[in-house]
Parts: sequence; structure tokens; C-alpha cells
Amino acid sequence: MKIVVCVKQVPDTSDIKWTENNTMIRDGVESIMNPFDEYAVETAIRIKESNPDSTITVLTMGPPQAKDVLKRAIAMGADDAILISDRKFAGSDTQATSRTLAKAIKEKIGNFDLIICGQFAIDGDTAQTGPSIAEHLGLAQVTFAKEVESTNGNTLIAKREIEEGLQRVEMQLPGLICMLKCDYEPRMPAIKGVMKANRMQIPEFGMEDLGLDNEDVGFKGSPTWVSKAFRPETRGAGELINIDDPKQAACVLLEKLIESKVLV
Ligand code: FAD
Repeated sequence: MKIVVCVKQVPDTSDIKWTENNTMIRDGVESIMNPFDEYAVETAIRIKESNPDSTITVLTMGPPQAKDVLKRAIAMGADDAILISDRKFAGSDTQATSRTLAKAIKEKIGNFDLIICGQFAIDGDTAQTGPSIAEHLGLAQVTFAKEVESTNGNTLIAKREIEEGLQRVEMQLPGLICMLKCDYEPRMPAIKGVMKANRMQIPEFGMEDLGLDNEDVGFKGSPTWVSKAFRPETRGAGELINIDDPKQAACVLLEKLIESKVLV
């Protein structure tokens, strides 16, 4: 099976800072592989372990330093990697990002059986990229997946999380699956894998290499406009009125609401 895993480099912090254009400042912030993508890579490796003739290609779109997450995936057990990088991609929203990733898969990988994404990136957190890639490529998709139970290269059986519990679904391949946190932990890279990753020359492609133009990428290719980005104010802890008699409790609550000028 030919498996493609999309991985994203994200800031290792919840203290996000913004530019005047409301895009995230990434310089000077330590970066990691998006945690959901670690599960995507682990899932691909597990599929390869039960289908040994499989290959795993990892793909990221980001600045040159995003190569680090590709190297981590190689060190974990992926076979090869592709970096999609170009200054012209700056300002891409999820539509432009997924369009670019889908084009990269089509142009630079060609045939594949399965694309695995994380469900969410912990910075952007829209959960739109995976499903949008599937739409651009006309693929079936399974979202909110917790586990790939089995695959024979033609179909795949997965468990996905729904409100009522778990749902078992079968998908025709080629298809795309978005992974949540699984019951198994992603493996740590072994020394041999780290050495392989350090030796590997990772190919890099830009906008023109993918046959895209300025209208497809960056701000021009992005229908989303962020008008404001802000951190919601944190509210203090609530106060519990611990009185058994409901009438008395209601009177105390009323007094407090008047005191705090919520009611006048
Ligand atoms: P999600 O959809 O939550 O991610 C789900 C999964 O998709 C991930 O787990 C991963 O498997 C895959 N995935 C997501 N992104 C990538 C990727 N880049 N490579 C490989 N796989 C991926 N971001 C910038 O870095 N620079 C900018 O200048 C910039 N400008 C923006 C301008 C606008 C107007 C908007 C709306 C967003 C901008 N962004 C920018 C954010 C960027 O669009 C998102 O980070 C990107 O589209 C992914 O969306 P997400 O973070 O919500 O990922």
C-alpha cells in the first residue's frame, strides 16, 4: 500500500502572539510535530507492519524549518518525505493550504491508496484541512478516527468517535482518514531511524513546481479574512450557594445579584 501522511509543524506553546495582519508569529517559538499527526504517523507505521510491502511518504507545507517534523516522522519509521515551501504561500487559509497539499500529492506522489491526517492542528484547530484535501482529490473520507482496525489495500475498516460512542466504518480506497488521539501511544524514534533521517535529502517544491499560480495560494487564494484575533477574557471561579432550603438559597442568590449590580 502507498500511504501519505500529512504532518504540520506547530508552536510548542499556548502563548500565541499575532502580527498586525492577524497571522500567527512563529519566529522564536519552539516548534513540534502537531500531536495528532504523531498518531497519524504511528497509524501508518502500524498499517505497514501488517502490510510489509507498504511505503509511507510524509508531507508538510511550511517554512524551511518545517523539515524538522518530516525528519521526526522518518526517524519514527516513515520511508520518505516531501517539503512544500514557498514565500508565496504566506497568508494561505485552510482552503489554499488544502488545495496546495492536494496538488502536491497529485503532482509529486501520484498514485496512492491512503492519506492520513491528524484531526486537528493544535494552533489553527479548524479540522478543515484533511476533509478539504479529500474534497480536492474527490476521495472518500473518515473523520474522528480512533483506530484503523484493518486494511487489505482495497478497503479499510476504522473505528471513529461519535457522540454515542464508537462507530465502525468501512471505506473504499483510495481514501483519506483523520486521526484523533488513539488508545496506543506514538513510538519514540530509534537511534537507527534518527541516523537515517539525518542522512536523508528531503526534496522541496514551491508554487511553480506544483503548477499553481498566485491566484491559488497565499492571501489571493484564500477566501477567509481574519478581522480580529484575541484571547477571550478568563472569568474567575464561580461561587456555590450551599444552602439546602431552595427558598433561602434563592433569596441569597438574589441579594448577591443585586450586590454585584447584575440586577438593579
Ligand atoms: P487543521 O485543519 O486543524 O489540521 C488538521 C490536519 O491537517 C493536521 O493534523 C495535518 O495532518 C493536516 N495539516 C494541516 N496543515 C498542514 C500543513 N501545513 N502541512 C501538512 N499537513 C497539514 N499559517 C501560516 O503558517 N502562515 C500564514 O501566513 C498563514 N496565514 C493565514 C491567513 C489566513 C487568512 C488564515 C485564515 C489562516 C492563515 N494561516 C497561516 C493558518 C493556516 O491557514 C492553517 O494553519 C492551515 O490552513 C491549517 O489549518 P489548521 O491549522 O486549522 O489545521
